[in-house]
Amino acid sequence: MNHRLNMKGFLLSVLFTTILFSPVNARNYDKVQIKTIKVENNVYMLIGAGGNIGISTGADGIFMIDDQFAPLTEKIKGAVAAISDRPIRFLINTHWHYDHTGGNEKLGKMGSIIIAHENVRKRLSTEQFISFFKAKVPPKAKSGLPVISFTRDVTFHINEDEIHVFHVANAHTDGDAIIHFRKNNVIHMGDIFFSGMYPFVDLDAGGSVNGIIDAIKKVLPKMDESTKVIPGHSPLSTKSQLKAYLGMLTTLRDRIRKEIKAGKSLETIVATRPTKDLDPEWNKGIIKGDAFVKILYQDLSRR
Ligand SMILES: [Zn+2]
Repeated sequence: MNHRLNMKGFLLSVLFTTILFSPVNARNYDKVQIKTIKVENNVYMLIGAGGNIGISTGADGIFMIDDQFAPLTEKIKGAVAAISDRPIRFLINTHWHYDHTGGNEKLGKMGSIIIAHENVRKRLSTEQFISFFKAKVPPKAKSGLPVISFTRDVTFHINEDEIHVFHVANAHTDGDAIIHFRKNNVIHMGDIFFSGMYPFVDLDAGGSVNGIIDAIKKVLPKMDESTKVIPGHSPLSTKSQLKAYLGMLTTLRDRIRKEIKAGKSLETIVATRPTKDLDPEWNKGIIKGDAFVKILYQDLSRR
């Protein structure tokens, strides 16, 4: 953390994001509605609050990706019941963040088998701290922990699909998984992809912008123009939107890296507004241009 950075606008944006992301905030979950979108054939996307949920339905049972916040579990179960009478058999966590794993305890108790990368299990088992949001996150009860953990990848042969779950190193966190519904041509990106906006990168949990760039480069060859892309946040997207996002990340990474090499301080860099030309298109999420510059600076000046 650079203590010299105390610009009002920046602090306001941090305050704003802290409120939005805080696991203990006064968010009124009663007002949240779960919207179901049919993505392809037997693949669905559920939008509520927190990370987008991906679902595969069929005779073999529900395969679910992420579960948002704990107070939403009953609503999520209701939305799932409206598209299938089968139980939630498998639950994948794309990463450990509480807006993607909040329903784990309840679903684990119901008998869903929770699966995640081994680093997700490690982080869910111990207290975590996200300095960017000043958020302290307690460990989960045993019922909320993954029962099966993997290091590289795992494939599910269910519901007449081949669902490939694979890890990408040090991207949004150190435990990210991307899920490829091969027969349906759908990919759930987890928080590697904030479609149409600047992303949050969890540097405390081993995330890095270069890792995100590498992950996207690894995924793009698996896609064609008709691939449906489920981002961690924001609406259902396409390959070309993912490519545009990669372009934005690469451009800003290169700009900030150059400034760091020139020996400039974060304060000086932020003052030149390096995201100015990109803001009209990308400044739509909770991470504003200045906040993303700060993340890039912290990330790229570590090495
Ligand atoms: Zn996340």
